[in-house]
Amino acid sequence: MNFAPAESIIGNKAHPMRSLEIIGNPSLPHGIYYFFDLYCTDPECDCRKIIMEIVSENELVGQIHYGWESVEYYRKWMGGGDPSDTMVDDMAGLSNAFSPVTDIPSDVILDLVGGLLDETWIQKIKENYALVKAATKKPQRPSNLSRPRLKRNKKFKGAGSTRK
Ligand SMILES: [Zn+2]
Repeated sequence: MNFAPAESIIGNKAHPMRSLEIIGNPSLPHGIYYFFDLYCTDPECDCRKIIMEIVSENELVGQIHYGWESVEYYRKWMGGGDPSDTMVDDMAGLSNAFSPVTDIPSDVILDLVGGLLDETWIQKIKENYALVKAATKKPQRPSNLSRPRLKRNKKFKGAGSTRK
């Protein structure tokens, strides 16, 4: 499976990446956190998940899997499989894909994303996924290879965070 930012496939049709400034949180250093969502580019694959990379101060502080379907969906998708296979459980919902060496424990990052992931965000992820899948099915080159836009999202005003 290859994963790429939605913008590298569908250009400015992609929802902008989210970012959030965190101030005064006891578990997270002050800084702007960027949430890069990466999509599977295989047109034959319907894995219905993303990889999310969390970057702060130019450092990768977390890498998370997020699958929005049920465990049953992924078990079927993987061809039945062994019910004791914990890989299937990891595909549904949020889980750590990789824990970079950083001062921030990976579970803190997982909790951060879990606290932010609301229906609005999930909907945007699903829309990006659908557009990426539709675009990769056509044998054409992406028309707009722009860099991901870094856009501050004013809607984020969760606990322990404020805007400048
Ligand atoms: Zn896939």
